[in-house]
Amino acid sequence: MQIILRKVTKTPLDFEVKSSQMVFKGFLQYDAKNLILLQAKLSGSLTLECSSCADEFNKEIDEEIEFFISDGIYEDTSESLVDVVECFDSSVNIDELLDAEIESIKSDYNHCPKCAI
Ligand SMILES: [Zn+2]
Repeated sequence: MQIILRKVTKTPLDFEVKSSQMVFKGFLQYDAKNLILLQAKLSGSLTLECSSCADEFNKEIDEEIEFFISDGIYEDTSESLVDVVECFDSSVNIDELLDAEIESIKSDYNHCPKCAI
C-alpha cells in the first residue's frame, strides 16, 4: 500500500495492511514542518528464534507503534528525541514499514518460554 505524502492532511488517513501473520492498522496525519504522524497497532503472532537455545517459538504481538515520517531529509535536530523515518520519493510504502517492524522484532533479543525467566 503506497501513500503519497502530499495527500496526507490533518484529517487522519486510515490504513490497514497484512502480512502472512501480522496486521498493521492505523492512520497517518499531517503534523507540521513536513512531518507526518503515524500511529498504528501491530498485532498477530510471529515465529521467533530464541536468543538462548535457538528454538523456534510463537509469540503473540500486540504493540502500539508511533513515529513520524519526514517528506525528505529531516533537518530539525532540536527535537532529536522524536522518532523520524525519512522518505525520499514523496511516498511511503506501508507494507515496507510493516516488514521493517517485523524485522526489528525478530532481530531483538527474544526468549522462548523455556528460557524466559
Ligand atoms: Zn530458548
